[in-house]
Amino acid sequence: MSIKITEECINCGACELECPNHAIYEGGKKWRISDGTSKEKTKPKNPKKKDIYFIVSEKCTECVGFYEEPQCAIICPVNCCVLDENHLESKDNLLKKKNFLHDGVHRKF
Ligand code: SF4
Ligand code: SF4
Repeated sequence: MSIKITEECINCGACELECPNHAIYEGGKKWRISDGTSKEKTKPKNPKKKDIYFIVSEKCTECVGFYEEPQCAIICPVNCCVLDENHLESKDNLLKKKNFLHDGVHRKF
């Protein structure tokens, strides 16, 4: 499962710096799989939200492989980082995603 950001987001930006997968972007910003990962530079994709921060589910691992708990959910001052029921994934798959993004290398950004 991925984490998502709800409409309660106040655009403080605190979560963005905490994400080990660079899966969090400011509203209106284009995103890349390669941002903050070991992938070769990939094509930018359109923002998923325009006005508030958003999480790219393709990159979110719920912090599996790095931390015990989702770091964005811990730091968010208004508790608007919640589980995204539309993107259900097992822990194994989340770990595979983390290894895909970082070529199996355990490191922090
Ligand atoms: Fe990033 Fe972890 Fe939040 Fe997912 S749960 S967006 S990997 S900080
Ligand atoms: Fe929005 Fe919470 Fe992230 Fe701040 S920490 S930008 S309120 S989701």
